[in-house]
Amino acid sequence: MRRKLAAGNWKMNGMSAELEELSTLARMYPSPTVDVLICPPATLLHRAASTVQATDIQVGGQDCHANTSGAHTGDISAGMLLDAGASAVILGHSERREDHGEQNEDIRAKARAAMDAGLKAIICVGESLEQREAANTLDIIGGQMSGSIPDQSTGENLIVAYEPIWAIGTGKVPTLDEIGEVHDFIRTRLERRFGEGVGRSVRLLYGGSVKPGNAADIFAVSNVDGALVGGASLKAQDFAGIIDALQNA
Ligand code: PEP
Repeated sequence: MRRKLAAGNWKMNGMSAELEELSTLARMYPSPTVDVLICPPATLLHRAASTVQATDIQVGGQDCHANTSGAHTGDISAGMLLDAGASAVILGHSERREDHGEQNEDIRAKARAAMDAGLKAIICVGESLEQREAANTLDIIGGQMSGSIPDQSTGENLIVAYEPIWAIGTGKVPTLDEIGEVHDFIRTRLERRFGEGVGRSVRLLYGGSVKPGNAADIFAVSNVDGALVGGASLKAQDFAGIIDALQNA
């Protein structure tokens, strides 16, 4: 049985005052029946970990370096994230692929570092609108998976997030059939590469304009084990609607 996961990506949002949203969430969900993870900016990570310490809510990073330490100004290692209280890290988000030119091999190296440090790697894949319109979605996702998922992956240390780029922060969402098609494809690819046992145990998240109002329908789609949520994770009340939908799925 795969445990469902509601993961929030705060991106470059959140000052000290926003930790109050996390406190509210912690009061509402001391022991949720699904995994709940919030990935705040690195500046808040340690305090976020303290905020949820008495609960089952977890915190994570939004990126890490492939090396364990050294001359990499501005970067953060996976071990540092762990040390600050993280249990997971988002890798290969389309905004990092776009803003920082991250390639599949960079993401694979980062994922290896995360797994070696004991973090779960949430590896993001997803097509652009152009690629979808050219009917290249599954080829793109397949290529991103082969290139960015390391061989050492297991159901414990790997989570894959399908995030169509054109659905992130736009209010546009693929049809439920389109989500199902990609998630079934990802599941089959994982089973082929890692064997049925591991392939079936990896959690698959959908991400892209998930809101309280559409979450229940999305969570009913085959092979959707939860969501990676941007905008709607910033406010406790919004994220609560998504956690509730997942708990009831
Ligand atoms: C994301 O940033 O991963 C994301 C899915 O954003 P949003 O929910 O705002 O579309």
